[in-house]
Amino acid sequence: MRNTASTIPDEVIQRARLGKCTKEDAMSLLNVNPFELFSLADELRSEAVGDAVTYVINRNINFTNRCIGNCGFCAFRDNNNGYRLTLDEIMEKVSWADKEGSTEVCIQGGLLPDTNLDFYLDILESIKAEYPDMHIHAFSPMEVYHAASQSNIPVRDALEKLKQSGLGTMPGTAAEILSDRVRKVICPSKLKTAEWVDVVTLAHKTGIPTTATMMYGHIETMGERIDHILIVRDIQKETGGFTEFVPLPFMPYNNRIGEEVLRSGRFATTGVEDLQMHALIRVLLNTHVANVQASWVKLGKKLAQFALYCGANDLGGTLMEEKISKSAGAGHGEYMSPEEFEWMIRGAGRTPKQRNTLYHGV
Ligand code: SF4
Repeated sequence: MRNTASTIPDEVIQRARLGKCTKEDAMSLLNVNPFELFSLADELRSEAVGDAVTYVINRNINFTNRCIGNCGFCAFRDNNNGYRLTLDEIMEKVSWADKEGSTEVCIQGGLLPDTNLDFYLDILESIKAEYPDMHIHAFSPMEVYHAASQSNIPVRDALEKLKQSGLGTMPGTAAEILSDRVRKVICPSKLKTAEWVDVVTLAHKTGIPTTATMMYGHIETMGERIDHILIVRDIQKETGGFTEFVPLPFMPYNNRIGEEVLRSGRFATTGVEDLQMHALIRVLLNTHVANVQASWVKLGKKLAQFALYCGANDLGGTLMEEKISKSAGAGHGEYMSPEEFEWMIRGAGRTPKQRNTLYHGV
């Protein structure tokens, strides 16, 4: 129940209920006592999705860390001692995932110079031939853009072929901050804001839902974070194709942008700021995107649990073999068992529920 002594103006609360908060509303919500914002987000979460807290049993497969990209925040790329999994090795990991009860494999990797769309289609078709029921959540908008351009075909055609070959959903990664000013500094060779919007919108229209992500806490302003969330809201109004929003605090270790942030005397984000972002996303996306995920890999398990009182209703996946955040300094482990998820969710006074990628049946 929201604190009745809240200083948040009634008209802002009214707009939040209707899913119509403005950028100015968002800025003002960051200036109130954080517990007032958490309380509003918690109330909206409860009305939108109730008390169940979801998680998915999945396995990450990062098929290569070699990459022609030059993202300044990336600690995963390694073109000297990197690895590249063969199709057989990928299939072996899918087989483990299947044995361990995963309902989803999440597949992403670096951008290889000598691959085109066929490489991505081969992965999908091989998995679907042996594991027709395994949901394939794979390939960021950047990877799809790369595959299409390497094959010299429009993104729309690439998406159709990917879907036909078994792609279920896409991670909405490569979004970082949807501002070309920021992208020019942190990921100059990555697709621009309008291109990310384009790939994601086309994916939704092709029948491939995606998640939405935001990597915050590096060189962007608060206004740019809010613009990012509002861009996601606009896409959602048009397509309805986002399944969830996953806020991702920046990991500042072992990467160029992180070194600059640390030299400037900051340590990326604080816990309170992370919780404020989760709450703000719940408020700004209310009535549009039902699910807000607290990433235990990025936040740590204890802060992720508390985020369940700040607007989040999902804890993401078991993961098994998380590599990307770990290389940038995340020290929270690579795997969380379903039993630990259940224990943690019950410990927060909520009801655990295993979900599938599309949140069906939740
Ligand atoms: S973030 Fe992805 S695209 Fe960018 S350098 Fe790293 S692996 Fe490559």
